Amino acid sequence: MAKSLEKTSALFKRALAASPGGVHSPVRAFKHVGGNPFFVKSAQGNSIVDTNNETYLDFCMAFGPLILGHNHSEINAELHDALDKGWSYGTAETYSLELAELIKERIKWIDQIRFVNSGTEAVMSALRLARAVTGRDQILKFSGCYHGHVDSMLVAAGSGMATEAQSSGVRKDTVQNTLVAPLDDEKKASEIFTNYSKNLACVIIEIIPANYGLLPQRREFLKHIKYLCEKNDVLLIFDEVVTGFRLGFGGCTELFDIQPDIVTWGKIIGGGFPVGAFAAKKELMQRIAPLGNVYQAGTLSANPIAMRAGLATLKILSSGEIYTHLEALGTELEDRLKSNQRYSLQRAGSIFWIHPKLEKDQPLRTANAVDQLHEYFPEMFSALRKAKIYIPPSPYEVGFLSAAHKKEDVIALAEVLNKI
Ligand code: PLP
Repeated sequence: MAKSLEKTSALFKRALAASPGGVHSPVRAFKHVGGNPFFVKSAQGNSIVDTNNETYLDFCMAFGPLILGHNHSEINAELHDALDKGWSYGTAETYSLELAELIKERIKWIDQIRFVNSGTEAVMSALRLARAVTGRDQILKFSGCYHGHVDSMLVAAGSGMATEAQSSGVRKDTVQNTLVAPLDDEKKASEIFTNYSKNLACVIIEIIPANYGLLPQRREFLKHIKYLCEKNDVLLIFDEVVTGFRLGFGGCTELFDIQPDIVTWGKIIGGGFPVGAFAAKKELMQRIAPLGNVYQAGTLSANPIAMRAGLATLKILSSGEIYTHLEALGTELEDRLKSNQRYSLQRAGSIFWIHPKLEKDQPLRTANAVDQLHEYFPEMFSALRKAKIYIPPSPYEVGFLSAAHKKEDVIALAEVLNKI
């Protein structure tokens, strides 16, 4: 075995003994691609360096938070300054206030924001709020949308309305209150509302689902969901954990010009630190403790280091220039892959997903359409890994472009894909 492989194997062996699957989030175990994960020792700009001193061009970007790339100089300076002032206060500070105000100033429909520590927490709290406000129990989600590891969201679509938990340890009566609908299907959504709307607290959706490949939705479909919610006094939650601040500062909500009742954020909002948030109009947010009786809390919520990383990141994004750069990179990648015989690209701004070419070259919009497509992935992943290019190690995960990527980086990615 080559020395570098031996070193990685030895580290992974230790990791396997120390943690389940050797990792702290399942997809990092490389189960979908074979081989062992590499161990990163540092990261800069568009690249990560592993413990064997191999440099990889990175299109995973920590699964989305790093829209500015790794170790951005302004964020780095901000963090050093923040560290000098201590790193957890347990009382009010000004950074979360500034971050909340910056977001409110730019996303006008929002009155109030609560910061939490992850996207999962944001979703969990938004669902609780929706149940409290409506006094109803059921939730409608869409097949193929991921909303973190909240018990009630770990549900797969069975046939019709039958639902089952995707994880053991989730109570039957929890998932019995989660209804699942197919994406891209107005008729099915209407049917569900006809049968269940009386006990439906909310609908939750990723507007551009990015956890089952990338499944761009039609605006008419989203508008129909909004219409059904309004008509039946059901709250609409847009989960923008991936898309928030990535597809423009106002995320998908702005892009599609459709306003939810509650929005959830994660990833970019913390600039690479553990932050999530949920936001809504005042009438809803005033139901949250300490004002209202919907309990929500966190020892490390609005941690000053994380808040400053998020604030510095969002300040840079708020000028809008980075989105122009990202769109240019995305277009370049798209153009370079147009004549590829084996793969197609689905893209929304700086989020991309590569899948095998299908007979009918049209956008995939539902989880069903993706189910048979994953076999191609290990070959593609290993060709890219050999070329020292890292994409997320799963056929269901999307790739991310960042401000640190250059035109030659996307050309390098396309060239490998065009040669497989
Ligand atoms: N919602 C969406 C759309 C996500 O993509 C994710 C994570 O990838 C989550 C929620 C959960 O966020 P976290 O992993 O920060 O808990």
